[in-house]
Amino acid sequence: MSSSVTLSWGSMPSGMSLRENVNFYLERALEKLDLNRTFPRKDIERRLMEPDSVVERKISLHMDDGSIVYLKAFRAQHNNDIGIYKGGIRWDAKVDRDEVEALASSMTWKCALAGIPFGGAKGGVAVDPASLSAAEKERLAKAYMRAFNDILGPDKDVPAPDMGTDSQVMAWMFKRYTELCGDRIVPGIVTGKPVELFGSHGRTESTGYGVVLCAGQFVQVKGARAVVQGFGNVGMHAALKAHHLGARVIGLIDPAVFGGALYDPDGLDVPAIVSTLKKEGRDAVRSRWPANEDPEKVLAGECEMLLPCARENLINSDNAGRIKAKAIAEGANGPTTPDAYVALHKRGVVFVPDILANAGGVIVSYFEWLQNRHEEYWEAEEVLSRLEEKIVRNARKVAAYARERGVDIRTACYMLAVERVARARLYLGAQ
Ligand code: GLU
Repeated sequence: MSSSVTLSWGSMPSGMSLRENVNFYLERALEKLDLNRTFPRKDIERRLMEPDSVVERKISLHMDDGSIVYLKAFRAQHNNDIGIYKGGIRWDAKVDRDEVEALASSMTWKCALAGIPFGGAKGGVAVDPASLSAAEKERLAKAYMRAFNDILGPDKDVPAPDMGTDSQVMAWMFKRYTELCGDRIVPGIVTGKPVELFGSHGRTESTGYGVVLCAGQFVQVKGARAVVQGFGNVGMHAALKAHHLGARVIGLIDPAVFGGALYDPDGLDVPAIVSTLKKEGRDAVRSRWPANEDPEKVLAGECEMLLPCARENLINSDNAGRIKAKAIAEGANGPTTPDAYVALHKRGVVFVPDILANAGGVIVSYFEWLQNRHEEYWEAEEVLSRLEEKIVRNARKVAAYARERGVDIRTACYMLAVERVARARLYLGAQ
């Protein structure tokens, strides 16, 4: 569908940072919308490009061996024109100011596009979580909540899991916030909590499921050969959903989990792999399904659907020329660099862009926040059917808009999201 539109974006710089990548797509949408003409003298583009604030603080962490380390921690709040700041907290050695700023901006557009009343934020700590013990993780989660307590809150800014964090980390943050509130229980302070602790059914699987449900609006999932890169929470549930919807998952790539990539042209037994991983751990998976193919080869291999579900900039100018997938649904945030995007788009590859494809997580975060506010518990089927309904509706809206405006799907996503936020901003006026 998107291949019928030609992109005339001029020369494409490579080696851009994630922030430059997000801003690049944003600028293309702003050019098309020409907001400065529609809303003259309001400096609206500047308002949308730059974050409201980025706070950086040092966190001191007591290690189990008695030593103390100081870690760089961030919270970027990009925009709250249509709702409270919302976005995950990433623990990763590569976290820096630029990255959280870019990811916060993505959250603004993701939430606006999804039609949920949230703004965009993102937090992070520059640390490799694999190097921490459970006790160290608990202290870090609690220290983060203490450090950023003044800018977070259920009606201000609500964190959630992201790369390197999970429902357990959210539970610890919730606990610290409760203490900071004099033992008043405020479940809506974070989303992505365990179901047993004010969490929502379906939140864990929501992002991965959403990626495949969304992809299904652009390509035929049943019978498709699918390759999933990244087997963390998003990739695992995307692979499961693809399998259950009748796709043949021929490749799974994750050096950390599999020690490389798994490839089977007849289709891998994804449910068995997932249940072995959950019950017996990585070593059991590696002994029953030894890595049997070069990850780059599987990534570039022929398939109908490639699902990059881990890091940014995976598909870039170095490997784009080799990619043979017919469609790419972006489970990760920013997995395709703009130059690779243009090259692949030109070759007719259908893209389901990140801010549309991976919105399932924050959509169910919104459901969780609603349940917390109303002291309700929704059944899993209710959560998942509401999720599906929203994802399908949003994807159709984007497809129709792209056709109508003669733009590619990614630009359509940004245009719809930006227009929504810009209109709200103008209603709000200046201070
Ligand atoms: N970290 C997820 C994302 O990037 C979810 C954010 C949330 O639920 O607030 O979309």
